[in-house]
Amino acid sequence: MIGTSAAHLERFLKRLSRFLPVAAACLLVACSLVACATDAATDAATAVPSERVAAPELPPPLARMLSDRPAPPIDAMEVWVCDVPAGATAAVYGGLTLREPLTADGIVAAIGERLHTYVGTVSGGRTDLRLVAGGTVTMGVDDDDDACAEASLARSSGEADVVLAVATAQHDLGQPGGRGRPGSSLTCTESCSAAATGRAIVIGANDFHDSWGEVPLLDLIEHEYGHTLGLPHSGTEQPGDDEYISAIDLMSNSAAPRDVHPDRRDGPLPLAIDLVDVGWLALDQVVVPRAGAETIDVELTPTSDPRESSGPRLLVLPVDEHRMVSVEFRVPVGLDDHLPEAGVAVHRIDDRAGGGVLRVQVPLHTDVVPFTDLLGAGDVLERDGWRIEVRAVGATAHLAITPTDG
Ligand SMILES: [Zn+2]
Repeated sequence: MIGTSAAHLERFLKRLSRFLPVAAACLLVACSLVACATDAATDAATAVPSERVAAPELPPPLARMLSDRPAPPIDAMEVWVCDVPAGATAAVYGGLTLREPLTADGIVAAIGERLHTYVGTVSGGRTDLRLVAGGTVTMGVDDDDDACAEASLARSSGEADVVLAVATAQHDLGQPGGRGRPGSSLTCTESCSAAATGRAIVIGANDFHDSWGEVPLLDLIEHEYGHTLGLPHSGTEQPGDDEYISAIDLMSNSAAPRDVHPDRRDGPLPLAIDLVDVGWLALDQVVVPRAGAETIDVELTPTSDPRESSGPRLLVLPVDEHRMVSVEFRVPVGLDDHLPEAGVAVHRIDDRAGGGVLRVQVPLHTDVVPFTDLLGAGDVLERDGWRIEVRAVGATAHLAITPTDG
């Protein structure tokens, strides 16, 4: 094995950080992303890269996404309720008159354990999400969802890493069901409380309506939680797009599993590239072909397999300074039990427009929405300078990867 130490990687990332552009404007999700390389960031890539991975050869977009702060190992989410008065005028509430009798304690009791389990599963135990009750803020008649978030942040304790603000009013049809933002949490180095960074989720009461039964819907909160970690949408070529057309990514149509199994409450898995971004998939489970490589054989373990010893879970193919291709193996079990069959998902990752929510992640394995027609045995895809041949699909996916002339 050609060893490249974690310390080497850290030095590389620190050097790299001096040359990174600052990505600023976001569309739906307010955020401010400034590249940095902290010790915490390199903790995300703790493992010594495998023989196919050398830190200096990391595709630039991958290096950039590793250069900010990963998800916290312990993430305290403080729950606040925004009491929306009758006659509220903000468009987001659309004049709807229903009010849910929500309390912070009640929300923690209803969803705390489920959200903890979801994040624990997806992160492979790397992030321990803990919900704690904050309280209730009283909204003014003209206050909107931004005011709900800001009032909750202002009241939050210094122990909160992220705030979940839930309005007692539903968000109107055609309005965003919720929003999530990292604030300055991706670059903070000392005081990283939600009050200091502005890291927050704000949603309407829609998912807590009695008609959903004992367990509220969780996929929207999970999706917005992904945004608070800096994750973008996927599915279209438009940076910062608000279309939710992919059923194979939490950060697109998070409700896709419920379309197949009405009892589902959680979203699907995020894309494997997002797991790497937030530090939930270590670099020694990422395969990057060396420059000039000829055909290599890769055996991919499913994205859903959380074992650190299970082998590669993501293949990343460099394209240019801002683009790369991600290849992962998805199987219809657990959080992905809505998929029709196992197969290989391929995405182009493109950060020309910027990082964070402006990063474009578009499916290449099919053009057909919702992109659940994954590559199976015998399928060959030639895109972006690479030939991806799926030789077998079983407990793992066997691939033959060959660079082409484009
Ligand atoms: Zn979103």
